[in-house]
Amino acid sequence: MVNDHQRKRITGDAHRSNDSPVTAGTSTLLGDQEGHSMEPGGREPAPGPLRLVQSFINTRDLQTGRDALSGPDALREWLAGQGLLRSDEHVGAAQLRRAWQLREALRAAMLTNNGEPEDPRTVDTLNELAARARLGVRFHGDHGDIEPSSSGVDGAMGWILSVAIVSMIEGSWYRLKACRRCRWVFYDHSKNRSGTWCSMITCGNRIKADAYRRRRREARGPHAALRGPVLATGSP
Ligand SMILES: [Zn+2]
Repeated sequence: MVNDHQRKRITGDAHRSNDSPVTAGTSTLLGDQEGHSMEPGGREPAPGPLRLVQSFINTRDLQTGRDALSGPDALREWLAGQGLLRSDEHVGAAQLRRAWQLREALRAAMLTNNGEPEDPRTVDTLNELAARARLGVRFHGDHGDIEPSSSGVDGAMGWILSVAIVSMIEGSWYRLKACRRCRWVFYDHSKNRSGTWCSMITCGNRIKADAYRRRRREARGPHAALRGPVLATGSP
């Protein structure tokens, strides 16, 4: 078992080694990037390094179709901006495909965090990508971390997985959820972890309105649509 002291050590982002590509992006990982005040419903973003996982998944907005990782160059730029990849690193179609795989596997895990059934393919994908990143525990003097041995995009994916694993140990992972309606990933700061929608205004109310309309339709019965016109055009 990992005790609190050890957890603190493992999660000590500020202690990451100086030669780690993540070091350059530490300030970003700790949450100093655009979009903070733009979370739906005025929610606060995920705290600390977990913000990286949230930002990574939300590079794709399923509602609008916007994708900040639409091609290899965009992926390289984004990862370099996070300090996870050197800006001259090769990024090809295969690496882009794996980044997309990781993004959607993480989104699926976030749906499970929001009460939806677990998809075994998600676990397989995460395990495959973790193996490819060659994640392992590494000690640096008086502290340790979970780090990828692979370099390039596989290594960058490994850093994202490392943040995920550490947050699972800490427990903060289970507050990161994908909205049940729009799939946007939000951090549930509520006391009893009861958040379901990215925003009550954009998604929660619409779901409630849809459910209300459905209930009304059902209450009128399956032939309500047929009965309506017949009644309206009754005997002259
Ligand atoms: Zn939503």
